[in-house]
Amino acid sequence: MPIQIAFERSTAGPVVICDHCGKRIDTANNGNALFLEEHCNGQSRIIGPIVFTHKVCNGDFETAHKPAKDQIWAFNDLDVFLVYLTRNLKVDFPNATRRADLLSNIL
Ligand SMILES: [Zn+2]
Repeated sequence: MPIQIAFERSTAGPVVICDHCGKRIDTANNGNALFLEEHCNGQSRIIGPIVFTHKVCNGDFETAHKPAKDQIWAFNDLDVFLVYLTRNLKVDFPNATRRADLLSNIL
């Protein structure tokens, strides 16, 4: 479960856990988002869930999880992945940030 809720001091919030070492990825530019890409009959498709690793754990994760013959581990840098994700979700950052700050102050 790479995305979990962590309790710190008196608050709780989502964090990303490395699927290789099980430790928290504290900084987005120290992580990768990986996904299996399958190539068959000239077609490519993404299969399986997205996993997250520290950049230093990426190689060991791929060694431990060898893809099938027509598959490769593809990845995005975690910080870039998050930009793509928030763009695809059409996140309104000023509004979402204001609401998150408000909720943090209540909790
Ligand atoms: Zn790790």
